[in-house]
Amino acid sequence: MSPQKQVSHSHKLIVISAPSGAGKTTLCHRLLADFPKLLLSISTTSRKPRGQEKNEIDYNFVSPEVFKKMIDNHEFAEWALVHGNYYGTSMNVIQSAFDKDRAVLLDIDVQGAESLRKAFPKETFSVFISPPSLEILEERLRNRKTDEEASIQRRIENARTEMKAAPFFQKIVINDNLETAYQELKRLVLEELNS
Ligand code: 5GP
Repeated sequence: MSPQKQVSHSHKLIVISAPSGAGKTTLCHRLLADFPKLLLSISTTSRKPRGQEKNEIDYNFVSPEVFKKMIDNHEFAEWALVHGNYYGTSMNVIQSAFDKDRAVLLDIDVQGAESLRKAFPKETFSVFISPPSLEILEERLRNRKTDEEASIQRRIENARTEMKAAPFFQKIVINDNLETAYQELKRLVLEELNS
């Protein structure tokens, strides 16, 4: 007799979106440390690696031509043009996580979050991380010293648009204080994984 299958965190997509500089990457890394069963979805992008980023660890870095071929081959569960570059979630990543009964953590933009809510309405749990204000966001982007001025300006402009998408998310966490924001996010994820 085969043992009864354990009830697990299967078929859950925990989607985290935020304007860049809102602290999303740090918050996602802390979630992964606290929830070892969460599988991080590594996205594919046509943008160039930044700083210490490594291929297949931070992103699968591909050329715009390869990315477009992947779109044509229907390899993405969702994809979007963000800050002038292509980003996408591979269907394989989601499928293999579901096969392993692992919940997936996705750090994607607001367009991607909307696409996943449509494609996987039952599985998607979306959280928007909001900076306290656009001024504070700009200050944070400058302090991290990884982006060119033009890129900072473009990110601020995009942030204005992205903030308008916040009401479509199931939950909003304001990152005023990183620790408080993390504790709130952790509570929400725990609740979702146990539901
Ligand atoms: P960055 O270039 O700063 O790493 O990411 C820029 C934006 O692209 C971030 O908002 C990030 O969440 C988003 N992003 C990363 N991967 C994906 C993806 O697979 N799909 C979508 N739609 N957005 C993504």
